[in-house]
Amino acid sequence: MNDFLTIIGAGLAGSEAAWQAAERGIHVVLYEMRSVSRTAAHKTDNCAELVCSNSLGNNLPHSAPFILKEELRSFNSVVISSGDRNSVPAGSALAVDRELFSKEITKKISNHPLITLKRQEIVEIPDSGPVIIATGPLTSPKLSKEISQLIGQEYLYFYDALSPIVDANTIDYDTAFFASRYGKGGADYLNCPMNEKQYYDFIRELNNAEKVPMASFEKPVYFEGCMPIEVLAERGPKTLAFGPLKPVGLINPHTGKTAFAVVQLRKENKESSAYNLVGFQTKLTYPEQKRLVRMIPGLEKAEFFRFGAIHRNTFINSPGLLSNELELKSRPGTYFAGQIIGVEGYLESASMGLLASLSAVAKILGKDYIPPPRDTALGALINYLTTSNVNNFQPMNINFGLFRIGEIKIRDKKERNQKIALNALEKIQKWEQELKCSIGSTA
Ligand SMILES: Cc1cc2nc3c(=O)[nH]c(=O)nc-3n(C[C@H](O)[C@H](O)[C@H](O)COP(=O)(O)OP(=O)(O)OC[C@H]3O[C@@H](n4cnc5c(N)ncnc54)[C@H](O)[C@@H]3O)c2cc1C
Repeated sequence: MNDFLTIIGAGLAGSEAAWQAAERGIHVVLYEMRSVSRTAAHKTDNCAELVCSNSLGNNLPHSAPFILKEELRSFNSVVISSGDRNSVPAGSALAVDRELFSKEITKKISNHPLITLKRQEIVEIPDSGPVIIATGPLTSPKLSKEISQLIGQEYLYFYDALSPIVDANTIDYDTAFFASRYGKGGADYLNCPMNEKQYYDFIRELNNAEKVPMASFEKPVYFEGCMPIEVLAERGPKTLAFGPLKPVGLINPHTGKTAFAVVQLRKENKESSAYNLVGFQTKLTYPEQKRLVRMIPGLEKAEFFRFGAIHRNTFINSPGLLSNELELKSRPGTYFAGQIIGVEGYLESASMGLLASLSAVAKILGKDYIPPPRDTALGALINYLTTSNVNNFQPMNINFGLFRIGEIKIRDKKERNQKIALNALEKIQKWEQELKCSIGSTA
């Protein structure tokens, strides 16, 4: 066993893992292939690049994603602190300027005296650990093959879709209006209102539009929260109006009324020069995206910075393969973290980088490591990943259904969630204190 930590992949999980270990005095060698090789979704060489939405999820106090954020904050997470510092207004969500966010993380990682960032594609898993594999849903094909051999099985997969980003200068602000749903969090979203006829015309054209075909041998499996709009539209003509295009809580100041449907746009950066279409993931062909998006009132002249796209997203069957320390049962010293283990979401991925790192650091220092309790968001995710049914394992975001609620038997949902949040934060702080005594802290 080495006295340094090897990490493969400087995405959300790998960057967090490197930071946590280095801040505890452990030397880290972090490999990242971008700049010598690309993935199908990343656009830059930055560490922790956000490939699709620029949102790090709900930041409303006492929501499950908020609890996860608070837990990360209590560990001085590099991902959440950079997110907080580079936030852009987004109602109750924590959205970030993606460029500034990942540049800040890249700088912190590159400048850390105990982190050596190597730009190299790893094609063989090092046989002397500890090593954390954090290569994400778009792991390079050669390494994917190696991992399949190591775990002795094929990957599981699903499809993740990206939504388009448009140029702010090409939006018609006489039609689109700024507002957040129910006025929560300021007028942070730009809303394109549709009347009934415009909506049904749009649905008709969407159903007829040309889509990028899937490989003939693959079943199209989507993550429910990332379903392409054309797939949702196939479920029925009203599905989008009750889903990502729901108009509730949004009064159009031009008419004083609520529209039949609304397409929401969220700022991409601090300068507000780009907007992404919220929940508008799509695998339509590019010309069809242009045609369909330009049917939306306010976006008739929209120019695109990025078109929507679809990507295969792979993950391992963690419940059968990993211990609750995120270590491969069949090869101690090899850890997995991030989306590749079946969490879904930027912060969930970073969280697993944090935990795999703490676990590996404990091993290097010869200390015991006990994972966080299940009444915390971090512990709830670990429990899901390692105790779910191996025959039906699916990626998961943080949600209240995963927490151990124990003695909390309160009927009122808001009150119950507040209590779960308080309990989680109390427990995570206690856990952090215990760890601090054995493996140190980032403070
Ligand atoms: C198309 C798509 C859209 C998504 N949209 C969202 C979204 O909107 N919101 C959200 O919360 N989540 C989204 N996700 C899910 C997930 O949150 C992100 O994929 C997240 O980046 C996962 O973090 P990670 O650290 O596990 O992987 P990544 O952030 O992808 O990091 C993995 C890193 O490993 C590197 N790498 C890969 N192979 C090698 C190798 N052989 N050697 C060296 N380096 C290697 C990659 O270049 C990459 O930098 C999306 C995923 C996909 C695929």
